[in-house]
Amino acid sequence: MKLIFLGPPGAGKGTQAKLLAESYSIPHISTGEILRAAIAKETDLGKQAQAFVDRGELVPDALILDLIRARLQESDTQQGWILDGFPRNVSQAEFLEKLLAELNQNCDHALNLEVPDAVLVQRLLGRGRKDDNESTISRRLDVYREQTAPVIEFYKQQGALVSVDGSQQMEDVTKNLKSCISV
Ligand code: AMP
Repeated sequence: MKLIFLGPPGAGKGTQAKLLAESYSIPHISTGEILRAAIAKETDLGKQAQAFVDRGELVPDALILDLIRARLQESDTQQGWILDGFPRNVSQAEFLEKLLAELNQNCDHALNLEVPDAVLVQRLLGRGRKDDNESTISRRLDVYREQTAPVIEFYKQQGALVSVDGSQQMEDVTKNLKSCISV
């Protein structure tokens, strides 16, 4: 099972990705979590990424692509994986496409969680992460619209896109996602 989560910040990608990863016993790979851990540990990656994450900007592709290449070749990815927060722009999606071809893999579904903006802002403000303040949230939503939303079209054209209403109760979203995946 190889899944990609799409959708704006606050749509519930992390929560749903974690639940599905447990349920299918496959790794949940969150580039945001990898970056936050690197920032906390003050590694080279963390130091280079911090200012971008704090501003709500995307970290340059150069910092992310090798990391994904290495992560998708670790031994726990044999049965599948769930990507959360990657790809975040069309060039990352094209990179992933080539990488998966090289690895003889294929993404089964790109799951797109749809949630209205007003709900997103409320959820993000309630979450309390360091980059969940009003100005950073607004920048992240703009960055999403400008750079990440076009990735939806990319997967639609590949016939891999599944859109689910992410504004419902968590359990209902999980149920809908599972029923789409198992079709
Ligand atoms: P997330 O936890 O997915 O909301 O990501 C938090 C922050 O990490 C984002 O606002 C970006 O600054 C950075 N980030 C996460 N994933 C990526 C990615 N694939 N490409 C570039 N920046 C990313």
